Amino acid sequence: MQSTVKRVVGLALFLLLLAAAYYAASRLQPRPATQSPRRSMFGVELSPEAASLASKVERSYQAGVREVRTSGHKAGQRARGVVARDGTPVIEISKYTQPTEAVIVHELIHLEMYEDGYPDLNFVRRDRRFMKGEDDYLNFIISGVHDQIHHFMFYPRMRQMGLDPEAVVRADAEAVLRAQDYDYMGLPADDVRAINYFKIWMNVSDPGLRRRLTDLYLKKEWRGPWLKASRMIEAVESSGPKTREQELAALEKCLNLLGRDGFRFSFRRWWYEMRGRHKHWYAEFEITA
Ligand SMILES: [Zn+2]
Repeated sequence: MQSTVKRVVGLALFLLLLAAAYYAASRLQPRPATQSPRRSMFGVELSPEAASLASKVERSYQAGVREVRTSGHKAGQRARGVVARDGTPVIEISKYTQPTEAVIVHELIHLEMYEDGYPDLNFVRRDRRFMKGEDDYLNFIISGVHDQIHHFMFYPRMRQMGLDPEAVVRADAEAVLRAQDYDYMGLPADDVRAINYFKIWMNVSDPGLRRRLTDLYLKKEWRGPWLKASRMIEAVESSGPKTREQELAALEKCLNLLGRDGFRFSFRRWWYEMRGRHKHWYAEFEITA
């Protein structure tokens, strides 16, 4: 009899311990996904859409995006997306620029485009070496024309994500309009004027601001640069590039419309270099004068 009581008490204790263990284990279960903390970059909490773009980029590079605050603040260099030599995707944001979701998504899309085979540019001359200052000019072209065509291609997607891709550049455009003149950085003034017009027009869709820009150019009698820029805009808008080949065709057209010093830009070839496992493409242009 006594041993039966012991067994019953023992069984009850065992069941009690089992229930306690089960309860404790259930408390340790991970919380449902909806409660997990949101992805942040540069201290900015990303929307689910932006976070999934970041994950997509990281999956394709098989590496996390490196976040860098830079001390430089060159014109047009608030932020950039670059691929390091080892294939790490990097986003650099100047310490003078407030990181926002729009800035981060903008650079994530540039990184995504590199993975999709969109190229950097390189220029060669067969007849002679580049002269002093020509490198600066070509770099200005790269950031002033090539990037804007990219922006034209992906700003609609950013707007669909509920972001304002123009916020950062609108302030720049206003500064240009207020100053009514540019920092020419030793570059040919008319080319800088043409590129700046092109840049602002391609980045800012506000009709009021575009009208003020055109008024300024006509008032200053910068008809040459205005005409060049208008033809460049037309070349991009009418072709509506959707692939890297179409983008390059529009770019080649724009470069030849600029035509500084009788420069002719001819696309020569695609080539790539491996950066880690990332295939980094270049579009090579030959310049003849
Ligand atoms: Zn950009």
